[in-house]
Amino acid sequence: MGGGGREHALAWSLAKSPLVDELVAAPGNPGIAEVADLRAVAATDVAGIVGVAKEVRPGLVVVGPEAPLVAGLADALRAEGIPVFGPGAAGARLEGSKEWAKSLMATRGIPTAIAAAFDRVDEAVAYAAGLAAGGRGVVVKADGLAAGKGVTVCDDAAQAAVAIADALERGVFGAAGSRVVVEERLVGEELSVLAFCDGTTVLPMEAAQDFKRARDGDLGPNTGGMGSHSPVPSCTPAVADRVAAEVLEPIAAALGEGPEPYVGVVYAGIMLTDDGPKVLEFNCRFGDPETQALLPRLASDLAEPMLACTEGSLSGVRLGWRPEACVAVVAAAAGYPGPPATGDAITGLAAAAALTGLPVFQAGTARGADGSVVTAGGRVLAVAGLADGHGAARRLAYDGLAKIAFDGMWFRTDIGPAALVRSGAGGED
Ligand code: AMP
Repeated sequence: MGGGGREHALAWSLAKSPLVDELVAAPGNPGIAEVADLRAVAATDVAGIVGVAKEVRPGLVVVGPEAPLVAGLADALRAEGIPVFGPGAAGARLEGSKEWAKSLMATRGIPTAIAAAFDRVDEAVAYAAGLAAGGRGVVVKADGLAAGKGVTVCDDAAQAAVAIADALERGVFGAAGSRVVVEERLVGEELSVLAFCDGTTVLPMEAAQDFKRARDGDLGPNTGGMGSHSPVPSCTPAVADRVAAEVLEPIAAALGEGPEPYVGVVYAGIMLTDDGPKVLEFNCRFGDPETQALLPRLASDLAEPMLACTEGSLSGVRLGWRPEACVAVVAAAAGYPGPPATGDAITGLAAAAALTGLPVFQAGTARGADGSVVTAGGRVLAVAGLADGHGAARRLAYDGLAKIAFDGMWFRTDIGPAALVRSGAGGED
């Protein structure tokens, strides 16, 4: 389910599984069409997707994006007896309500920024002023789903007051911003740790990092993500153990008290602070573009842990990872992250794939009238390089990207571990 770069990576990885006979994707994209039959139904069209599933009777539905999960797609499919990798609406509140996620973390003592939720401007502004007076920066978040755009990181109380009024009074984030969470600003390096969850057991994947800002040097506006890499050098085995013990296992235990098992991905956005790892957010699905850098490194079968999640047998599954590093670089269309240009012909896809040995993960693409692949969204595609060390992986990804062209194409030139970028070394690992 879905039609972005994450779903292309998922479909490509699932297509390699000996457990998978046939793949159907909705709505998919031209890249996904290379491994799956497409159905022209939007991921958010719950009734339409249930209709496709009743016709196809799949052994498993894998839901890529968060919005259909929050809207109850997994519940609707399960009601038809169809196994789903992805939580029901109750579990998806982990991502769909930041306030609820905070309350779950509080019950289990999971380390996170101190925070409170408000629907009144005066109370929120007073709380933000209190945080700022204590010498802390302030972050204002729309409570609901805002397509990654509902977070404002503020330097001072005055900025926070503007962000609070934007959400609560000016309705900038629509209904998602009718409540806000105001929280302490954390400082450190960010990483993403995703885990499979069958309702009881959590099985962490290797860590990844994504790059949210539009411009090199982590400058410019926020985007859906301009690139990613895995593994993360700062995520040592000791850090990974702490994230598992202090974050993933307790959140799974808290979710386990819900009305039904939480089946799917638990994604923890982590800040490595001086006081240890702290949670920035939880998501209820794979990350985009983290998935495009993670799955090329997965040596074991993706379908196996997904099916085990639906059967409650995840404790018997082990994941295998390739030792190489993967760097995935997103190419975006002119105008993005604002309204993007569309309909421009894309050349060089096959040449890039031949060079990297991986598919070019397509996201905002479509078939043009003449059958060629054209741009159809802001983040158009991602080129991933898999090689020994981040430096070589990065060079391979950028060499692949150099084969691709479309009008207005742009990308960040510094995707990779920050240290490599800062030193300009690009390959000394
Ligand atoms: P979220 O959607 O909650 O992950 O927030 C999006 C981005 O905002 C994160 O990836 C961080 O870069 C930033 N952010 C969120 N919460 C905080 C925080 N408490 N302190 C600092 N940065 C934050």
